[in-house]
Amino acid sequence: MKRAILLKYGEIILKGDNRYHFEDVLRQQIKKRLAPLGDFTVTCAQSTIFVTCEDDALLDAAYPRLKRVFGVISLTTAWAAEKEMSAILACAEEHICPLLIGKKSFKADAKRSDKSFPLKSPEIAREVGGRVLSVLKSAAPRVDVHEPEVTVRVEVRDDAAYLHAGQEKGAGGLPYGTSGRALLLLSGGIDSPVAGYRMARRGARIDGLHFESFPYTSERAKEKVITLAKKLCRYTDEMNLGFVRLTDLQMALKSACREEYFTLLLRRSMIRLANRVARHQGCKALVTGESLGQVASQTMDALACTDRVAALPVFRPLIGMDKEEIIRTSRDIDCFETSILPYEDCCTIFTPRHPRLAPAEEDVLAEEAKLDLPALEDAAFAAMTWMKVTEA
Ligand code: ATP
Ligand code: MG
Repeated sequence: MKRAILLKYGEIILKGDNRYHFEDVLRQQIKKRLAPLGDFTVTCAQSTIFVTCEDDALLDAAYPRLKRVFGVISLTTAWAAEKEMSAILACAEEHICPLLIGKKSFKADAKRSDKSFPLKSPEIAREVGGRVLSVLKSAAPRVDVHEPEVTVRVEVRDDAAYLHAGQEKGAGGLPYGTSGRALLLLSGGIDSPVAGYRMARRGARIDGLHFESFPYTSERAKEKVITLAKKLCRYTDEMNLGFVRLTDLQMALKSACREEYFTLLLRRSMIRLANRVARHQGCKALVTGESLGQVASQTMDALACTDRVAALPVFRPLIGMDKEEIIRTSRDIDCFETSILPYEDCCTIFTPRHPRLAPAEEDVLAEEAKLDLPALEDAAFAAMTWMKVTEA
């Protein structure tokens, strides 16, 4: 009997005339994500994507990868039976019953998109539920139609009847790359990888940009950022990761400007440089991991002060999240253990003891006028390097 992974998509259904474009991108994404494993057939019918493969072991290997594909709200392994009640019941007996052993409760459900099938949905469900109970006898889970642990579902479609038990949540969001390109300011911390994940989940194609301060920041700090980018690639695609060295600029700021302005001035330079990099890459927005009030540079006033130099929109998907919530996502996407490795960041060297929380614009401009920032930024931009990162 033919096996398939069925993936259901969510918001795409609301996309009106664009829906077919979104479906197509999602299908291409799935093909691309599975390509390293082998040959898969990926088709789309009636708001469902079907992934099949000659080799069952490969199909099993594909499953965890498919759980990380954005745009999918649920997925399950299903068995295709001929559209006859006897075949459906035989399939339930052979493939679904073993999945129910040890479960507390279940219900059977049916959906009939092929209306020419002689039995109606409740009748199909009743027969399948009955077969489960008669096959498993005392080992059968109890029937609970309200809150079952497992729902056994029969989907009578155009080509076959598909049976499955235990639909799982997918990665959600929109297919990767359907919302334009954005530049993620990627530090080695906990927040920025989560911010990148969040925006990628909304369909933004992500390029990464890291600021380093060699020799004050180490080679290992850089390796850590590359590892985080690789981990993000498990959800996205390959990623362009750029590096800008800020050492000279930071040294100049440190010697020319008042200490309490240092972080703010640095952040404004970072945003100006990120704008240039974004334009160069065709990115239409910047993404940061800032969260309101988390540190001195993330007060409303400080954020407004950095935003004044941003030519592109700055997306801050974590702005209203607590650290605890951010950490939960960081763990979910397997970045946390890497993020907490204790390497220095360019933002944490030369940190002022008493940073400005509510900086007046004229004071900030007066500090910036003390040195030739455009020349320093030109030099940093000209010396930047790129690498292509693929999944870990
Ligand atoms: P994170 O955990 O992401 O490092 P954080 O709480 O340490 O965040 P900051 O150091 O103030 O906060 O940085 C705020 C945001 O600025 C980061 O989330 C990131 O988007 C960006 N950022 C900070 N340092 C760097 C860097 N070295 N390179 C690129 N972006 C950076
Ligand atoms: Mg940081």
